[in-house]
Amino acid sequence: MKEIIILGSTGSIGRQTLDIVRDYPNMFCVVGMSCNCNIELFNKQIAEFKPKYVYVNDKFAREKCELCGAVMLTSSEELASIEEGQIVVTAMVGISGLMPTIAAIKAGKDIALSNKETLVAGGDIVMALAKEKNVNIFPVDSEHSAIWQCSGYGKAKDIKGLILTASGGAFRGKSKEELCSVKAVDALKHPTWNMGAKVTVDSATLMNKGLEIIEAKHLFDMPVDKIQVVIHKQSIIHSLVTYNDNSVIAQLSYPDMRLPIQLALTYPSKIDTKLQELNLAEVATLTFEKPDMDTFPCLAIAKQCGALGGYYPTLMNGANEVAVQAFLQDKIGFYDIPRIIEKVLEKGEKTDKITLEGVLQADKYARQIAKELF
Ligand code: MG
Repeated sequence: MKEIIILGSTGSIGRQTLDIVRDYPNMFCVVGMSCNCNIELFNKQIAEFKPKYVYVNDKFAREKCELCGAVMLTSSEELASIEEGQIVVTAMVGISGLMPTIAAIKAGKDIALSNKETLVAGGDIVMALAKEKNVNIFPVDSEHSAIWQCSGYGKAKDIKGLILTASGGAFRGKSKEELCSVKAVDALKHPTWNMGAKVTVDSATLMNKGLEIIEAKHLFDMPVDKIQVVIHKQSIIHSLVTYNDNSVIAQLSYPDMRLPIQLALTYPSKIDTKLQELNLAEVATLTFEKPDMDTFPCLAIAKQCGALGGYYPTLMNGANEVAVQAFLQDKIGFYDIPRIIEKVLEKGEKTDKITLEGVLQADKYARQIAKELF
């Protein structure tokens, strides 16, 4: 029986992780669970899965938590480092996932990493710590899970480069003029994936793919210039690995996050699944196109920050989180997102070695500057 801790159980990835636990009650149990503020759903989850420990971030929501015998801890970090639990699913949004992920690694727990901002902002620190503590970081992001599978779970040699596929988000094919007037509700209509608001807006700006380039850089120790992006609107091929002989290996399946979540939980086994088997004749057509870097400037910004390293990705991530939040509240327009990020990045300086304290400072600084810009 594998004991699981879920950080962010009421979000899209958290809920789908619980679907898997429900489907395989003899394989998994949940020993710890946290949420931000969706207490109504969280109470239902506690009643069903009976975790030993819980944590609720929002203090008003915390007062309404029905514990059913569970113990309320004082922080996500405390929850991530309880005695029980072999694996922590990090399904929180944004940089809030960084400190609990570090706490879990320090406690020697494997990580099923869904929270990409953790690696974007503090990848050098997190990966070095995982190595030191001999802890596995299993990717839950569908593209990174695909690369992991195509590279013999990251063990293959002779890899020349990676190709990340992108659905293109809600605004694929739109012109700059059209995008000047789009609103949050338009960005939230994702064509192939049903996800949380932040990642759906990131998909619409292509920042999500930019964050994923940096995530892949850290997870697979690959230089940014060896990571390509291709738009693949059907979301059937989840990413590809190019070997030295130019042989390319791809991973295909219908878009369903339960696949990467399940694999992170059952690694190294691939278990019988309740997920739909791929019918290629039914899919019929797979198409590929170059991303439009001019219409979607966030992708180029992220590539640049990923190549520069240091605190640039941290600054970019902090500015993006603030800008996306403002866009979701209709306070700024679509192109204000890259504009704000670029303004914040002007304050950046080249550094080779980063520290955790520096990451937290850079993040705070980026948020402060970004907020002053609208
Ligand atoms: Mg992804």
